Amino acid sequence: MLKNHTSFKIGGPADLFIYVNNQENLAALISQIASREIPFFILGNGSNLLVSDDGFNGIVLYLNEDFKSIRLKENSIIECGAGATLARVCVFAMQNNLSGLEFAWGIPGSCGGALFMNAGAYGKDISNVILEASHLTPQGTLQTLTKDNMMLSYRKSLYSENPFIITSLKLKLDRSHHKEIKNTMHQTILKRKSKQPLQFPSAGSVFKRPGGGYFAGALIESAGLKGAKIGGAMVSTKHSGFIVNTGNATAQDVSKLIKLIKEKVYLESGIILECEVKTLGNIKI
Ligand SMILES: Cc1cc2nc3c(=O)[nH]c(=O)nc-3n(C[C@H](O)[C@H](O)[C@H](O)COP(=O)(O)OP(=O)(O)OC[C@H]3O[C@@H](n4cnc5c(N)ncnc54)[C@H](O)[C@@H]3O)c2cc1C
Repeated sequence: MLKNHTSFKIGGPADLFIYVNNQENLAALISQIASREIPFFILGNGSNLLVSDDGFNGIVLYLNEDFKSIRLKENSIIECGAGATLARVCVFAMQNNLSGLEFAWGIPGSCGGALFMNAGAYGKDISNVILEASHLTPQGTLQTLTKDNMMLSYRKSLYSENPFIITSLKLKLDRSHHKEIKNTMHQTILKRKSKQPLQFPSAGSVFKRPGGGYFAGALIESAGLKGAKIGGAMVSTKHSGFIVNTGNATAQDVSKLIKLIKEKVYLESGIILECEVKTLGNIKI
């Protein structure tokens, strides 16, 4: 069940779930899948994902083994596989006295998912550290892009608009001191713990920041929806930008709650909220 692979703990089965261990296997597999026109989906850490209760009619690919590698390339460049978690890369950076990734400490994604989303927090995002990345096209061709060609903007990238499979990333960091980096990471996690409902399954902030100085959480709260519940899905009482799974939420519950939030926020403020969370399978948000 895909619910076991998402931070929301929601989602039915996939037709096939494949752990892919290296680039050669991935290239062979992906060209076969493309030539047969089988729907496929690249799963990162499943931390920004709402999967349909019916699951996914297609193949889910999970980047394992070689794709989890992390190494120091040159003095201040880390090369990592797209399947490596941001958490492990943050620790690796700290252990090598490299600063720049502290903002990402606590973002529960993979490096591939983080680049796809241009994940960020506290005024920084992946665009601040990415140097280049490689991906496979659906035909199995390996390509490399430098940062300037990735079209990185707020929670968006060229990858979120194209069916590419990110395989590895190079991150450019700055030399610093272990103690300083550790301290910043500690402060970051304290901020997260104080503001976010980390004790419940969720997919983080459901909506993008709408711009114009507005915040989704504050708009949702002003619309009177803090703590609003449909089935097992609830607007967090700690951070109204989060929808949490209180135990037995279905994707339908979350979808209905998102619809209600969008409608009420629009009626109250005239602002249209856009979802940051991605979907898989037959589910509308
Ligand atoms: C408690 C909590 C806190 C969070 N805080 C933040 C935060 O502060 N900032 C923030 O930006 N996000 C945050 N998130 C959301 C999430 O962690 C990020 O969006 C993260 O980058 C998603 O990565 P993932 O590997 O989990 O991607 P997934 O959820 O698995 O996938 C997301 C999308 O990326 C695609 N994808 C994943 N890997 C690849 C790949 N190798 N190649 C091509 N496409 C790929 C998937 O197909 C999918 O479309 C939070 C989530 C939670 C649960």
